[in-house]
Amino acid sequence: MPGIKIYTVMKMKDKAKAIEEILYTAGSGERLDVYQGALLFDAPLLYLGALADAVRQRLHPLNTVTFVKDRNISYTNICVCGCKFCAFFKAPGANNSYLMPREEIFKKIEELVLIGGTQVMIQGGLHPDLTIEYFEELFREIKKRFPVYIHSLSAPEIDHIAGNSGLSIEETLKRLASAGLDSLPGGGAEILVDEVKKRVSPKKLCAGKWFEVMETAHRLGMKSTATMVFGLGESYEDRVRHMVLIRELQDKSGGFRAFIPWSFSPGNTKLKEFEIPGGIDYLKTLAISRIILDNISHIHSGWVTEGKKLAQVALSFGADDIGGIMMEERVLKSTGIVYEMFEEDILRLIKGAGRVPALRDTEYNILKVYDS
Ligand code: SF4
Repeated sequence: MPGIKIYTVMKMKDKAKAIEEILYTAGSGERLDVYQGALLFDAPLLYLGALADAVRQRLHPLNTVTFVKDRNISYTNICVCGCKFCAFFKAPGANNSYLMPREEIFKKIEELVLIGGTQVMIQGGLHPDLTIEYFEELFREIKKRFPVYIHSLSAPEIDHIAGNSGLSIEETLKRLASAGLDSLPGGGAEILVDEVKKRVSPKKLCAGKWFEVMETAHRLGMKSTATMVFGLGESYEDRVRHMVLIRELQDKSGGFRAFIPWSFSPGNTKLKEFEIPGGIDYLKTLAISRIILDNISHIHSGWVTEGKKLAQVALSFGADDIGGIMMEERVLKSTGIVYEMFEEDILRLIKGAGRVPALRDTEYNILKVYDS
């Protein structure tokens, strides 16, 4: 059970008073620090939801909930990293390991374009043999063939490609951008606190490196999203510290378009004894992220990890975007999670929440509003 170290010694009455004051502070638009944010996990759920929804309404007064038509393409499951929370990767040479042929990647993008999809998310394991040339050729060919936005490669992949190619992060990002990479997804962050990262993914890039990749991308004019996977045995303080560090970089760079928190799915991983975070925990984490991250426009609710019904409820807890109609998802599928979402489902969920569905592109430009 995540703990709030600094407040555990507080008397109940003092704690309730402190929470009330923090809710008032946040309601008046003042920023919260790590300890104030962590204490909010003990606030009544519906108060938190109302506050987060008020922040959302201030930022998005039109009452829309956006979504994107995208496709995830997991081009390889071969990975030298072996994170304990991952059920997707295979060691090099293992049975069922694969590197997807290029023509298969192109076929998948063609199918996406045929249904009006605009975003392709190409992500995979840290393959020991792939250098920057592989990705440059792939992205150039995709841009030549299809009118899609390449929102691809997480920070650990960028760092790994740089290492495999003997390049700096900056050189790697510049070359990938000129080959067609448009923006970076925020994956690989998990909890951006090294004590947690060392425990669950000791071979993966540290928190500082994740921020270095993002800061460099933003400086070069490439936008990204930021994510958080919670339920990895971290404390509430760790979760809020993660949010505050992202807020600090956003103050400097302005490069994060959205924040996407989701709960850890332990099935088939080395951490399978971990408890799956509950719905209340998810809603509180989402609401607190909306309150803390006052400088990030969009907060996603996640139907892939949380299920459709909870994702719908999350629209009243600070979320203004419900992610994508994903044509394919292999990483979470390997943990046993399988949800499908069609356009009609998304429209029904959003309308059922009393909001107006709007199709967007990766840059959050509205392409179509479904207001009837
Ligand atoms: S999470 Fe990514 S880096 Fe970690 S083992 Fe899985 S594929 Fe590899």
